[in-house]
Amino acid sequence: MSKKTITDLKELKGKVVFVRVDFNVPLKNGVINDDNRIVAALPTINYLREKGARVVLFSHLGKVDHKDPVKCAENKAKNDMKFVAPRLSQLLGEEVVYVPETRGEVLSQAVKSLKDGQVLLMQNTRYEKGESKNDLDLASYWASLADVFVMDAFGSAHRAHSSTYGVPEILNSQGKETALGFLMQKEVEGLNRCVNITDADRPFVAILGGAKVSDKILVVEKLIEKADKVLIGGAITCTFLKALGKPVGNSRYEADQLDFALRCVELAKAKNKLVLPIDHIVADDFAMPLDVRVTTGVEISDGFERLDIGPRTRLYYNDILQNAKTVFWNGPMGVFENPLFAEGTKAICETLTKLTREKGVFTVIGGGDSASAASQMGYKEGFSHVSTGGGASLELIQNEGHLPGIDVIADK
Ligand code: ADP
Ligand code: MG
Repeated sequence: MSKKTITDLKELKGKVVFVRVDFNVPLKNGVINDDNRIVAALPTINYLREKGARVVLFSHLGKVDHKDPVKCAENKAKNDMKFVAPRLSQLLGEEVVYVPETRGEVLSQAVKSLKDGQVLLMQNTRYEKGESKNDLDLASYWASLADVFVMDAFGSAHRAHSSTYGVPEILNSQGKETALGFLMQKEVEGLNRCVNITDADRPFVAILGGAKVSDKILVVEKLIEKADKVLIGGAITCTFLKALGKPVGNSRYEADQLDFALRCVELAKAKNKLVLPIDHIVADDFAMPLDVRVTTGVEISDGFERLDIGPRTRLYYNDILQNAKTVFWNGPMGVFENPLFAEGTKAICETLTKLTREKGVFTVIGGGDSASAASQMGYKEGFSHVSTGGGASLELIQNEGHLPGIDVIADK
């Protein structure tokens, strides 16, 4: 790791350490549905507490529309950090100081009154209009309260906002310390295994599925360049099939991505890298599947929609994966939310976790829905690394390990 990490930080006792965490948890009517993101930040927070630092946590939570005043008020009511504070206190086993403000006298005083080892959580950073614009005044204000900055919000590291970029940039310029937290360190180390591929890490196989090619153009291109094989699944399959002139029946495909798909095929041709499914699970209707079939080949008949990879493809992909030393997986193979179309995604989970367990293959999931599929199906623990950031993990791969929120942190 070339960047400074939390264990490289010098004397922390009595220092005000601003930690950008990712507490962007799913909320429904003020109730947290999944506290994984809070739990993931605990190692960093607890390390700082043990060292006697005065810990100030800040994070965004959902979106706040600053253009429309009515929406703005609604968004603020819904995405109020006060919903997060009690759960954080519970998980830390100690009452955190919650400040329902993002700037001003109340916050400044609360920070100044912190005792060594105490934790403060401030209001949702996106209550501030300037946050997403990396507003300098806002960043300067936060930086003025901080002695040290720790970045631990991987899911936001691809954004250069005041809290992820402005604050550490200012502190660096003042000769103050900035570092990556434990969660960031784990993400960077895990994902970089798929960026800095050495011969010993090959064959490197990428598995790409999910909903839309257009979401993933740059990462698809990058993986075709880097990987030895790219296995395609998910709804994006049909964009590739359509581009190759195969019948896709009623399947969704992205008409505006056909040229891109052809370019990928062309790019991959020389080394025979791109692998498409050889059969599919199809159904008459996505929402109400009454007639579910397995196709005999790649062609999909009229009246049917592709919803998962088929059983022959499952075996075929499993065979290819047996030679892999490193695997990066993004995007479910099918509409896994419906058990009728979950087998493809499950088979990938089964194969990858077995390879990790039995052969020490380095397996990485980067992608929100793929990670939640693996988790729901009970395979999450079996992967070498499951990224907590969907968009951020893809951007890290496509930018060869660079993200604004990583690059801004001081080198060792
Ligand atoms: P990730 O979050 O892992 O990057 P995506 O967001 O790209 O993945 O895609 C996830 C979604 O893709 C899933 O909710 C899944 O239902 C959907 N999906 C996969 N295959 C199909 C398909 N054939 N038709 C429609 N949706 C699909
Ligand atoms: Mg997704």
